[in-house]
Amino acid sequence: MIDPRCITELRGGEASAGPILYWMSRDQRVEQNRALLLARERAVAAGERLLVAFTLSPTFIGATLRHYDFMLRGLEETEERLGRLGIGFVLLEGDPPAEIVRFVLSSGAGLLVTDYSPLRISRRWKESVRDAVAIPFLEVDAHNIVPCLLASPKQEWAARTFRPKVNRLLGEFLRPLPPVEPVENGTVPEPTDWEAVRSRLTIDRSVGPVPGMEPGEAAAGERLRRFIREGLPSYAERKNDPNAGAASGLSPYLHFGHIWAGEVALGVMNSRSPEVLNSRGPEDPSGGGELSLFGDGTAQAEAFEASKASFLEELVVRRELSENYCARNPLYDSFEGLAQWARQSLAEHDADPREALYGREEFEQASTHDELWNAAQRELVRTGTIHGYMRMYWAKKILEWSPSPREAFETALWLNDRYALDGRDPNGYVGVAWAVGGLHDRPWFERPVYGKIRYMNEAGCRRKFDVRRYIGRQG
Ligand SMILES: Cc1cc2nc3c(=O)[nH]c(=O)nc-3n(C[C@H](O)[C@H](O)[C@H](O)COP(=O)(O)OP(=O)(O)OC[C@H]3O[C@@H](n4cnc5c(N)ncnc54)[C@H](O)[C@@H]3O)c2cc1C
Repeated sequence: MIDPRCITELRGGEASAGPILYWMSRDQRVEQNRALLLARERAVAAGERLLVAFTLSPTFIGATLRHYDFMLRGLEETEERLGRLGIGFVLLEGDPPAEIVRFVLSSGAGLLVTDYSPLRISRRWKESVRDAVAIPFLEVDAHNIVPCLLASPKQEWAARTFRPKVNRLLGEFLRPLPPVEPVENGTVPEPTDWEAVRSRLTIDRSVGPVPGMEPGEAAAGERLRRFIREGLPSYAERKNDPNAGAASGLSPYLHFGHIWAGEVALGVMNSRSPEVLNSRGPEDPSGGGELSLFGDGTAQAEAFEASKASFLEELVVRRELSENYCARNPLYDSFEGLAQWARQSLAEHDADPREALYGREEFEQASTHDELWNAAQRELVRTGTIHGYMRMYWAKKILEWSPSPREAFETALWLNDRYALDGRDPNGYVGVAWAVGGLHDRPWFERPVYGKIRYMNEAGCRRKFDVRRYIGRQG
């Protein structure tokens, strides 16, 4: 039974006879998906068929082949998994709201379910579907752990104001969901011809797929297990070192919904320090399995618990704070969305001389005077991600070397969304707004160009990690 607080009724009424349709959008997975579970629950209760439809938009906020390729390969796996459960999957190509409305009519669906996103484009699509269909339409927050609209009714100012609100509700929502049971007598339509779908794409192909980066639920689960084994033990100590390999690399999977943040959080909370496991052996009854939020008494175990806490702060508090910003600030993707103090302070420094001035193209080509910055940009172009610490430096320097803070905001967002596999995410809008405009931060002491926005420099990076090694690794 899905907690009703995860559900928003976009259109009310009684479901009519006909299949239950899950319009999958942001949460592109089968397991641990509240929206799919709710649709299945309703289908079983009504004795109706369950169908899943995905609408493939010909364009999506600047997404390139890199993103479409990752998404389509993930959806191929989704279709296969659904097929094994007797659940039909249909890919609809064209304008998403128009296509889903057409499919509601042609399939005779009696209830429409979809997943939640705070982003404007998704909200607009849903509004136009709501106005065009005559059946009930439910939206389920399958992405967050604590449903975004429940967590806070207003824009939160900082992690410190949001943390207690999320923590208060976490115990109620951070629970494993049941596996999806097969559907009896389900009929599965003809499988999608994915090659034909790919050949019809009219998107920007100038940014290609990231070699070796496997999408989908299986790859996300594998990435999580590897992170718990290899990265988590030293996460607290080494998360700011881009050479350490301590970060999870899960953000593209979380972005496309290939894994639920709740599954990641539970996996991390339930894991045990490798040293503790090695010294006690797996047969020790306290050697694993149960929820462990407390230390085991050894120094390694304490360090492991500190890593868990540090990771959960990022995954739960910071990530869901980004959702809150996009849900509660209609200007989340523009410079105007920033706080008054930040815009005013930046405006007072508009005319300050810059150490260097670059336009979009020079940034894109990684041709600034700063080897460290260029290395970060090369990492982004080559791997579809930048390590979290370097991502901050990367965006701060775009502010420092752009003609205006507004242009810096737009350049950082454009590059992020064009190259990052996890781009177009609430975390991306917030990351850029934090770096360029002090979002969720406080005013710092005044300095040129930055005004009261927090400053970063290469010396700070050198204190945290081996800068030469990082530059060398990016080629
Ligand atoms: C300028 C800038 C742009 C960014 N753009 C994006 C983006 O497009 N997409 C994106 O997912 N993240 C973005 N971030 C946030 C953060 O840098 C990435 O989430 C993180 O680096 C992803 O790597 P990881 O999964 O290995 O992180 P880990 O350190 O392993 O963290 C695990 C998860 O916690 C969450 N998380 C970690 N750091 C943050 C943070 N600072 N804010 C919010 N959530 C966080 C993410 O979901 C991440 O996957 C941006 C940050 C900045 C400063």
